[in-house]
This record gives sequence, structure tokens and C-alpha cells, in this order.
Amino acid sequence: MKLNSIVKFLNKELKIKNIKDISKNGLQVRASENVNKIGLSVDACMDAFKKAKKLNCDLIIVHHGLFWKKQKDVSNITKNRVKFLKKNKISLYTAHLPLDKHIKYGNNVEIFRLLNAKPKELFGGVGYFGYLEDARNLDSIVKELNKKLDTKCKVLKFGKSKIKKIAVVSGYGAPDVLEAIKKKVDLLITGETSHAYYDDSEEGRMNVIFAGHYKTETLGVKALSPLLKKKFGLKTVFIDSPTGL
Ligand SMILES: [Zn+2]
Repeated sequence: MKLNSIVKFLNKELKIKNIKDISKNGLQVRASENVNKIGLSVDACMDAFKKAKKLNCDLIIVHHGLFWKKQKDVSNITKNRVKFLKKNKISLYTAHLPLDKHIKYGNNVEIFRLLNAKPKELFGGVGYFGYLEDARNLDSIVKELNKKLDTKCKVLKFGKSKIKKIAVVSGYGAPDVLEAIKKKVDLLITGETSHAYYDDSEEGRMNVIFAGHYKTETLGVKALSPLLKKKFGLKTVFIDSPTGL
């Protein structure tokens, strides 16, 4: 399959050009004209690239890419990564916020799906708030997330114990605790922990689950797999490079 066809399809499907982002989304490294196998990964790091090479991928699609606005590559790390991709003929495609926000394949919508809940409205820029089917205990939600995301949630239990209205912001959504308090949600689920928002959470009586930045953002790239298989009949593989954070 031609790389250009895949890029064109993804740009349209993920509305790459419509969403403002500090990430330079879309095709970031062109190193293969034809694609037979696609690697799906969270971060554009050397570990993922090496695994992609071993798995014979000629395209890798990531959530966190190599190029960001106002970026300075003072350490040459980015340069070395690009060199590796070019040498091994692996192209790189990035979808950052478009893959958080997407109503079909986004990280956040996927977390709602995981909890059998329905997103209602946008929240915190690219997240959503919505409702669980039935009110349930905070502890049972933590247990389910630990199991389904293969993670170990950190929890701030400052709100109600029965949860119905939830907000979900994958990755780093700790600052959105303020919006969660304002919108009277029962629980904010996000990824990365934050010392800075501990006191606000406590004083605003907000429950917060930190399920891990990496783990909450594996879902969007994984959700692209059936889509790419169906559209192009291509082989895809999830490349796991966990950070534990
Ligand atoms: Zn992220």
C-alpha cells in the first residue's frame, strides 16, 4: 500500500488539520513509499523504533511524535531518532490531540467504553464528561481500571464514594481538576500524577484517579488497528514501550 494513501486517509479520518496542537501532527518522517506492516505505539522513542524494525514495520504511528512547535533539539536525540528511521526505512506518523479527542478512536472515548459509560460533552479541551450506566463505588472503578489498563492507579479520595458523573482526560489532565470541581463531576480520571493539584482536589472535594500517562494513551493507537486492517488490509502490531509513568 502506498504511504501517501494511508497518510491521506488518516489525515481526513482523524481531522488532523482541524485541531490546534503543539504537536506537528501528520506525517513526520517519510522513509518508505510502500507500507506492508504498521506499528502502533505511544511514544516516538528509540525503544519503539528498534522494536518496529525487528517486527519489519515500514510505518509507525504514534501518539507523541518527534516534532513539536518551538522545539530545540539541543541534545541531538531527535536527530538520532530520525537518522535511525531513515536508515531502516520506517516512516513516522503522529496524531496527538486528534487521537485524544476523536469520538470513535480517541483515548478518552476508549476509556468511557472500557467502563461501559457514555461520553456526553467535551471536557478540558480534548477530554469528555459523561455518565456511568449505574452509580458505583470508586473502589470498583479503580479495580476495573487496574485490570483493564494493566496499571496501578493512584487515587485521591476526596469526593463522594458513589460515582455516576465522570470526566476523563487521558495523559496529563491534572489541571482539569478545577473544571471538574466547577462542573460538579463525581470523579476525574486522568493519566499522569501531579503534586500541584493535590490541595485543589482536596479543598474542592474531588475524587481523582491517576491511571498513568502511558497506559491511558495506549488505547487510541490500538483503536486504529481494526480501522487500518479494514480499509487497507494491512498487518498492524501494537508496540509496547511502557514508561511506568
Ligand atoms: Zn500524552
